[in-house]
Amino acid sequence: MLMGQMMQRPLLVMDLLKFGAETHKTAEIVSVRCEGDLHRQTYPETLDRVGQLGHALEALGLSSGDRVATLAWNGHRHFELYYACAGAGMVCHTINPRLSPEQMLYILGHAEDRVVFFDLTFLPIIEGLKAHLPEGMRFICMTDRAHMPEASVDLLCYEDLLAAQDATYDWPELDENTACGLCYTSGTTGNPKGALYSHRSSVLHAMYTGLALQTGLYDGSRILPVVPLFHVNAWGLPYAAPLMGASLIMPGPALDGASLFKLMDGEKVNSAWGVPTVWLGLQGEIANQGRTPDGLNQVVIGGSAAPRAMIEGFESQGVGVCHAWGMTEMSPIGTTGILPSDARDLPFADRMTLQAKQGRRVFGCELKIVDEAGKALPHDGEAVGELYVRGNAIVSGYFNNDDATAAAIDADGWFGTGDVAHIDKDGFLSIQDRAKDLIKSGGEWISSIDIENVVMAHPEVANCAVIAAPHPKWDERPLLVVVPAGDTKIMLDDVNVLMEPHFAKWQWPDDVVFVDALPLTATGKVSKLILRQTFADYQLPDLRGT
Ligand code: ADP
Repeated sequence: MLMGQMMQRPLLVMDLLKFGAETHKTAEIVSVRCEGDLHRQTYPETLDRVGQLGHALEALGLSSGDRVATLAWNGHRHFELYYACAGAGMVCHTINPRLSPEQMLYILGHAEDRVVFFDLTFLPIIEGLKAHLPEGMRFICMTDRAHMPEASVDLLCYEDLLAAQDATYDWPELDENTACGLCYTSGTTGNPKGALYSHRSSVLHAMYTGLALQTGLYDGSRILPVVPLFHVNAWGLPYAAPLMGASLIMPGPALDGASLFKLMDGEKVNSAWGVPTVWLGLQGEIANQGRTPDGLNQVVIGGSAAPRAMIEGFESQGVGVCHAWGMTEMSPIGTTGILPSDARDLPFADRMTLQAKQGRRVFGCELKIVDEAGKALPHDGEAVGELYVRGNAIVSGYFNNDDATAAAIDADGWFGTGDVAHIDKDGFLSIQDRAKDLIKSGGEWISSIDIENVVMAHPEVANCAVIAAPHPKWDERPLLVVVPAGDTKIMLDDVNVLMEPHFAKWQWPDDVVFVDALPLTATGKVSKLILRQTFADYQLPDLRGT
């Protein structure tokens, strides 16, 4: 074999920011801070502060390979930590502040974090955890001297640490396989499991994302990540934005519809990224104001299935929707819903049908679906199986967790996502459910996502979820849980009318129940686990014989 003669240069995270600072000098990071102000800094200014932070981390006694925990909102200081840790060969370990104290303690212990950087909002969490953490753990409050809080714990001040340091840092030339980031899945079943990202995987993922999402992510674009830096790397935006020349508009703790609308409007955000529950809030504010935020022309929706009614709502208001799918273990983006050129002019309804799917794979992520015996199934839009993925930005195992690794990786090295899906001949992925949320009725599967999609279109439904309720004959039957939009409540007969054109009769829900709000997971998704527990003893009407 004739070998190529090309340079072998490592793919390093710091080079993304250096590139942004050199070639996209005016792009900025705008942050709503916990202190209450709106802060701005350019990429060159950010690079200087990251240099100061790199020195500060070393002054704290940290060195290569050490894990640095963060408990923080989306903001410039959190972004700085991503880069300073990576640049100095350390690992930025983002922790989801919505996890339970037990889960946080498990994660901090498992990761062997040496220090915790936290936003002002999260001081009570730190004070609660302190007694259970190892001696010698340091806590750095991400604010300036004037805003340092009274605390029962010894705290260091972020801005003081930086002020003492030089902005020039001679970043080491690391091996590209060095770890740079760590994020644990929210662990709805069992303990959280860690995905340990490398410089190489993060840089490649930034390039894959930039390529796939350049309709919203480009030189001069202004992106608002509602998706948090504390989970799933904010879908890779901290890495992709400086590469592509996009500004990041960071919302901090203010994630309600009215605050997001105001920030988008004021900052001329063109593209905003987040989970469906967040967009329900924004849609409410759009209805209040009778207009969309000035300049907003794209929302990227992922994390759980974007209801078709939500996609249609945005699209008919002139805001394009890109539906994306991925997971923590995939850095996280696997597929995006940017349509192929020949589908962009389809009639509205046909286009919506395509956009309600989870999209096509990004370069660098291969997809396969398999049956229960592990045999690959055809991509014909019909065969349904468990989804496996393979690629350079996908975990080859979990951090220090051999059992979880063995359960997730198949004999050919593919990663099992735990999602059940079909893929059509054009490569469009349709997630049917998480395997554990599928409803198994008399040995047949019913997709809760498909039913939710249809029910969400009804004007009397503000939000809904379909869960499995126990049934003496059929094992499980679908139960529809609805948050009513107003005073009138949708009846089962109305639901049946909605179902009729789309589903076989045995797939229709057996009953409707009403709740004021759906319970959410730590990552802002509807918690079907809690719903199933709530309705575990629910007596379904005997519609189908016992
Ligand atoms: P968790 O929420 O469990 O902490 P992730 O944020 O990594 O972890 O979630 C990944 C999972 O979210 C996927 O396996 C899938 O079940 C679900 N998911 C993500 N995007 C979508 C989507 N667009 N449609 C349906 N499900 C999605």
